[in-house]
Amino acid sequence: MTASVYVGDGRLEVQQVAMPELGPGDVLVEISHCGVCGTDLHLVLEQIARPGSVLGHEWAGTIAELGSDVREWDLGARVVCGPTPGCGDCRACLRGRPSVCLRRAPVDHLGFRGAFARYVRAEAARLLRIPDNLSTRHAALTEPTAIALHAVSLSGVTPEDRVLITGAGPVGMLILAVLHAQGIRDVTVSEPSPSRRVRALEVGAARVIVPEDLPSPEMGRPVAEPYSVVFECSGVAAAAESALDQVDFAGTFVFVGTGHYPPRVNHNRVIILELTLIGAYNYDAAGWGPALELLASGRLPLDTLIDGNDVRLDGLLPAMERLAAGEIPAKVMVVPQTTEGDHR
Ligand SMILES: [Zn+2]
Ligand SMILES: [Zn+2]
Repeated sequence: MTASVYVGDGRLEVQQVAMPELGPGDVLVEISHCGVCGTDLHLVLEQIARPGSVLGHEWAGTIAELGSDVREWDLGARVVCGPTPGCGDCRACLRGRPSVCLRRAPVDHLGFRGAFARYVRAEAARLLRIPDNLSTRHAALTEPTAIALHAVSLSGVTPEDRVLITGAGPVGMLILAVLHAQGIRDVTVSEPSPSRRVRALEVGAARVIVPEDLPSPEMGRPVAEPYSVVFECSGVAAAAESALDQVDFAGTFVFVGTGHYPPRVNHNRVIILELTLIGAYNYDAAGWGPALELLASGRLPLDTLIDGNDVRLDGLLPAMERLAAGEIPAKVMVVPQTTEGDHR
């Protein structure tokens, strides 16, 4: 089958690779669309991925083959594949955090068999059916929407909060959309890219600013117009440091964007203002079901969140470079074809 393979040195190549092998409880899924994630950008452009990897985890598709033990699914069913369930009784699971279950198998963060390819293998037990009124393409937003829901729920944000989002890439934009859908309207977005600022206003930001507009506080005091909840979605150290400066007394700061260089955390501010700093990485205990429901509800501006131009496998690397440069304001969807045609 055709796949986009990471070959090292920040390069992707379209190659013919072996079809995934199915275990008895697996299904083969033909990929419809797979979103490009910030993690994919880091892994490729910062040359972190293991050569030979196929990236892409934000996929949706249709079942093309059933493992020998799979009874509950039919060929042609439209699906996404939810997270690995937690063990249910470790400290993390008992606190409603199964995505950091202490008994998970260690995650291989560098090597993948992902969905920038024609097919993926998936465990039937983890599949979720895509609701009839949601397109398969739109359903490829399920994973990042589940991430946005998790960041929002961990933050404890309410409609009374004054919220700042730093970085309006796909994750920041989805958090903005989720906040809006939950009736949280006082949301400011700080973003250097003009096209992303415009898009953030369309998605529901009350106001957009450039990062230089964020003031520096006096020692031990909040800025003049502080925020009670801040989502740092850029992964840029300077942006995170400035974002932390904007938090009000007893405010909450959520790290969502990963990045190469760690920010310096001013512990004095955290102490004196009694701030809460948290990290949000994966999904709520309810898994991806609520994300699928929200996507199908019509309450998210899906065609504003997703870039209008889908990318073929051989256009993936240039799209990644443009995404990293902030030139594409929305989520990019990859279709598993190439410009030369469609060799399965
Ligand atoms: Zn992702
Ligand atoms: Zn557990």
